[in-house]
Amino acid sequence: MAGTPRIYLDSAATTPPAPAVVEAVREALTDSWGNASSAHAAGSRARRIVEEARVKVAALLGGRPDEIVFTSGATEANNTVFVGLAGPRGRPGRIVISAIEHPCVIESAAALERSGWTVVRAGVDETGIVDPDAVGAALGKRTALVSVMLANNEVGTIEPVAEIAKIAKAAGAFVHTDATQAVGRIPVDVGALGVDYLSLSAHKFNGPKGVGALWVRRGAAIAPLFRGGSQEGGRRAGTLNVPGIAGLGVAAELAKKNLAETADLVRGLRDRLEAGIRSGVQGLRLNGHPVLRLPSHLNMSFDLIEGEALMMRLDLAGIAVSTGSACSSGSREPSYVLTAMGCDAVRAAGAVRFSVGSTTTEAEIDRVIGVLPGIVADLRKAPPAFLKG
Ligand code: PMP
Repeated sequence: MAGTPRIYLDSAATTPPAPAVVEAVREALTDSWGNASSAHAAGSRARRIVEEARVKVAALLGGRPDEIVFTSGATEANNTVFVGLAGPRGRPGRIVISAIEHPCVIESAAALERSGWTVVRAGVDETGIVDPDAVGAALGKRTALVSVMLANNEVGTIEPVAEIAKIAKAAGAFVHTDATQAVGRIPVDVGALGVDYLSLSAHKFNGPKGVGALWVRRGAAIAPLFRGGSQEGGRRAGTLNVPGIAGLGVAAELAKKNLAETADLVRGLRDRLEAGIRSGVQGLRLNGHPVLRLPSHLNMSFDLIEGEALMMRLDLAGIAVSTGSACSSGSREPSYVLTAMGCDAVRAAGAVRFSVGSTTTEAEIDRVIGVLPGIVADLRKAPPAFLKG
């Protein structure tokens, strides 16, 4: 709609870079463009930026700076953990993941499975929670790795990772958590979680795209995904992305400083949105845990509506939401996350994810609450046959 400001309720897909992040990236591109591995002054200047960022990312996680390996994002961080298993540890063993991991974990595990590893996929309950006892039961004698995400991207359910880690560590397994959706939204402390590896991505908490990190507990095994350079202590070869890392550092610093305040604000707006939608629309079901959920996420199924159609109508009204995850939207397959939670195909097809961000305003939420009932009523006049059962 020309002239109407757009409303962005898709912070689970990505977030806008904070102004201080943009400034740090700009500074690194214009003034600190040296190669962080060079021995001369230009290199030292770039290296200083990288090392400052490392301290800030470590501080956000309660880890140590030398445990941070900068990557191109969470996809690379997650792949690194799984590919690293295949190399140094000799014969294939067992891996336990949850059924609702991001595709980059699911497909990394599947690749190992094709080369002889045993992969157990622990199920979830109807709210998307992985049962620690189910993980415990899935652990064999030779389980090399347990990987369970800290919070799910589609529904926002927060997993009992600390409990799972305790059980897995007692059985001698290494533990990885994909914390991509959680970092910057809820407190994340590697000590309290008791994991060995944690993945994060800057663009989910107002940092730049194409940069992230893998936190590796000191002493935990890691093999490089990329070879051919001694950067990152030999754990990740390749000239460092200084502008991206600078931006990630500032985003981490802001996230740590503002976490509690932002979470309260975002939760308040998300709850206002949910209450407003419920008061204007009948035939709704919440997907995800009602309480153990990221403050940002609201995933709802609308009876007699295809989520894709609702998403497109909202887009025309200047409101950005998503169905499933950004990576799988556009495919007509029902969400495997909702399917694993026991949703039938009709409920899964009617799902829409609203995800509130730190820049969302109350006026924006109220505008969405205002326009949504009319669009829903309109779409329900002619529901697709398969939704009528
Ligand atoms: N894991 C989760 C849970 C995610 O939500 C995403 C992003 N959609 C990723 C991994 C991939 O992160 P990146 O965009 O940094 O590759």
